[in-house]
Amino acid sequence: MRFSQYHFVDEIKQNLEKLGFKKPTDIQYKCIPNILRGEDLLAIAQTGTGKTAAFAIPILHILHAKLNNKREDGIKCIVMVPTRELAIQINEVFQVLGKNTRVNSFSVFGGVEQGPQIAKLEKGIDILVTTPGRMFDLVSQGFIKLNRVEMLVLDEADHMLALGFIKDIRDLIRFLPKQRQTLFFSATIDDEIKDLAYSLVKNPIRIQVSPKDPVSKNVDHSVIFVNMDDKRFFLERMINENPESKILVFVRTKVRCERVHAAMDRVGITSIFMHGGQEQQDRLSVLNTFKQGFVKLLIATDVSARGIDIPDVDYVVNYDLPEHPENYVHRVGRTGRGRKKGMAYSFCDESEKDQLLAIEDYIGKKVKVITLGKDDYKEITDLTSEKKMDLKQILEELTPIPNKRYGVKKSKLNK
Ligand code: ADP
Ligand code: MG
Repeated sequence: MRFSQYHFVDEIKQNLEKLGFKKPTDIQYKCIPNILRGEDLLAIAQTGTGKTAAFAIPILHILHAKLNNKREDGIKCIVMVPTRELAIQINEVFQVLGKNTRVNSFSVFGGVEQGPQIAKLEKGIDILVTTPGRMFDLVSQGFIKLNRVEMLVLDEADHMLALGFIKDIRDLIRFLPKQRQTLFFSATIDDEIKDLAYSLVKNPIRIQVSPKDPVSKNVDHSVIFVNMDDKRFFLERMINENPESKILVFVRTKVRCERVHAAMDRVGITSIFMHGGQEQQDRLSVLNTFKQGFVKLLIATDVSARGIDIPDVDYVVNYDLPEHPENYVHRVGRTGRGRKKGMAYSFCDESEKDQLLAIEDYIGKKVKVITLGKDDYKEITDLTSEKKMDLKQILEELTPIPNKRYGVKKSKLNK
């Protein structure tokens, strides 16, 4: 079925056409009718399969029809997402798909002044895309009224419900009108979170497509066993062999993020980095620089693992293995989006083998291993353009960073 055969309002159809979206993806095909019927939904589909438009299209259609020339005050739909970058990205999707419709959307998030956000809210917003923190602040100060909300969407739902926000989300739901539609979207979910999601809605939820393997079928992913101290040489080699490629590298901590950036700098490779310790404006400009391709190497923590849609990332590198196995699925899912194919490599040190096992357990299969002969391995470490470092530098480089395990899931994206 093509989008032209749907009974969407013309404006939305024109916007889909302009975007070059001809046919719905599987998840869109399955979700759209349910959402249009007003049903609650738990939708699980792999990374990069178009989950955003799966909820944005029907929501815009419903609200446009309802607004029917006379503007009623109050937010009608709240979309909650884990990061500020994602709030901006998803709001952009609403704006592009909702161009020339009667529906207004807007995003709010922390880390920037709230004044301009409040001014905009007062002008009348139908769809609010938001991170939980800033939204709860604005609700408690009375700048956001919830009495007209008809729809609640939790994107990256498993993360949102596990983030330590569950209490806040329960509180929020108590303020929402009883008559409303609740939609959960994610690429990953476990049984515990699924139960939690069910407990938040009255109507039975429809579960949607999710193949057994949660890793996107467009991503060819494998692991290479590399000593911790040699990882930088392997990254250097990979970049030099693929000078035109856009590469997203994930590391475990903020400190490592900056160190890998410095290590690349020493061998003449330009990179940018992004982690939770940066100012919001810096994070946004880093992401833009990478998106536009001005710099083709981004080194990031898990703060960028979820939801970010940069269609032309060629490689994802897990420079460090993720601590939470589901983040493996999200990280490698930053490549191979839409119809594109992507590659992902994980650099696994001896000390990370347990993490690899946890990942394999989570995805239900072994990760393909790339085996290197001793000579090949040595060639990579020998051929670095890194100049001999002085003793102090070497010691700094080798100092192990304590492998902090996070007991509380709350800190997952706060890195
Ligand atoms: P997900 O949330 O499932 O990870 P996104 O919603 O971010 O995926 O979409 C992934 C990419 O697919 C985006 O670049 C989006 O523009 C594109 N896309 C979504 N729906 C369609 C469609 N029907 N046809 C073509 N491209 C699409
Ligand atoms: Mg998404």
